[in-house]
Amino acid sequence: MLIKREFYINGQWVAPTTPRDHEVINPSTEEPCAVISLGDKADTDAAVAAAKAAFPAWAATPPQERARLIARILEQYNARLQEFAEVIAMEMGAPIDFALSDQAPCLPWHTTNFLKAFDRIDWIRPLDPSLPANQPQPAVAMEPIGVVGLITPWNWPVNQIALKAIPAMLAGCTCVLKPSEEAPLNGMMFAEFCHDAGIPAGVFNLVNGDGAGVGSQLSAHPDIEMISFTGSTRAGRAISVAAAQTLKRVTLELGGKGANLLFADADAKAVERSVRRMMENTGQSCNAPSRLLVERSVYDETVAKAAAVADSIKVGPALEHGAHVGPVVNKRQWDQIQRYIQIGIDEGARLVAGGPGLPDGFNRGYYVKPTIFADVAPGMTIEREEIFGPVLSIVPFETEEEAVRIANDTPYGLTNYVQSGDPVRANRLGRQLRSGMVEVNGKSRGAGSFFGGVKQSGRAREGGIWGLEEFLEPKGISGYDFSAPGAAE
Ligand code: NAD
Repeated sequence: MLIKREFYINGQWVAPTTPRDHEVINPSTEEPCAVISLGDKADTDAAVAAAKAAFPAWAATPPQERARLIARILEQYNARLQEFAEVIAMEMGAPIDFALSDQAPCLPWHTTNFLKAFDRIDWIRPLDPSLPANQPQPAVAMEPIGVVGLITPWNWPVNQIALKAIPAMLAGCTCVLKPSEEAPLNGMMFAEFCHDAGIPAGVFNLVNGDGAGVGSQLSAHPDIEMISFTGSTRAGRAISVAAAQTLKRVTLELGGKGANLLFADADAKAVERSVRRMMENTGQSCNAPSRLLVERSVYDETVAKAAAVADSIKVGPALEHGAHVGPVVNKRQWDQIQRYIQIGIDEGARLVAGGPGLPDGFNRGYYVKPTIFADVAPGMTIEREEIFGPVLSIVPFETEEEAVRIANDTPYGLTNYVQSGDPVRANRLGRQLRSGMVEVNGKSRGAGSFFGGVKQSGRAREGGIWGLEEFLEPKGISGYDFSAPGAAE
């Protein structure tokens, strides 16, 4: 078992002020795989103080030098990729091949996209470029917001760390990361990457802890200017309340209940693609297409096909090779998913694949049968609430207008999906669906795009130029003389 009690503060691994052990459980086996410490206020304060002290020098470091150091994080990643993927598989249950192909590569993908977007930032620019440069004039300077607190979940753990820590540091902010206590080990490896890349002491700090402790302390901390959070809508609310006293900027990436509108003219692979997308990462994705809305004329055949796909999906341990889905992250999630499956049955939805209990052949590990309900009516609990497991709800519709109405009638608004061979309709729906993102016919987000939602999915825009700008503040300077030496730096 790994012993990982220390925190990364001011460029060093330091012991917790008051040790409080927390076991990280391997969800494939239900056995502890590591011991970490949960930090307390003194640890949080030490990390924030280190970040505060490091801020002036880091903010004044030339942007290209910051970019050079960030690029070196990728060298560390490349040298330890296999180990990194194994850690993710062990602590949160992503099958190793999926951890290697999808989870771990989030770090280089986002970093590369951020580095490209970074070159496009004008750090100081005239408000009105048509004014002659040789006279004092209004200018806009882009400045790092300050010390930032980063709070991340366990489901795509390094994806979210990369979406926050990389742009924060590029922008010139210093940060304190609190990764999820369920899957903290990849975050601790990320801290090692930063250290070995030569990121100066205090620029990146990591304190492990839970939401009630370090999470709340960061949210309320007077020396933190911004919290960037990804996780549940419940915690997003609590953070917003805790942050209100200090009026810090809060960016939130929260839950989802994506609608996937499948029309009779969808391509032949649309059903299989939709089911696999739902079950990927064992359904633990905030942007999972968890409501499949199907045009009535192809409803019965779609339900049959979807059930066959779900039945064909293998479930297995994370460290076993192959294209299977792993367990869900912990007992609490397993219990919650089982509760939703029972609610689906009790409310009269038709179970067509999977169902309650462990899959055949398992007596331990947090495994869930890939489950599909058909005949789900708008308003049923499994149509309204985020389940965060491999459970798909299929809802029939008669007309496009009805489909849009059902899709938009949700408190969430992260990603919606369209499967249709009619480009005019697909474009129309791309505009009408109320969400931060819409994916058409299986096309995923392009390099440099952002990730983010509307309504109770939060309103952050993480990734690319938008993700960098979240950590910057425009400052208006009147009477700036662009002809003075050094004025454009
Ligand atoms: P969670 O909200 O329980 O925990 C997320 C993080 O917040 C953890 O680090 C946790 O310790 C911390 N936390 C919890 N309560 C807190 C509080 N009161 N104050 C400060 N910090 C607190 O979520 P989870 O179970 O780890 O992740 C699953 C949720 O995350 C799902 O709802 C999912 O939809 C959402 N999610 C959203 C996105 C997105 O980008 N929109 C991405 C991934 C996950």
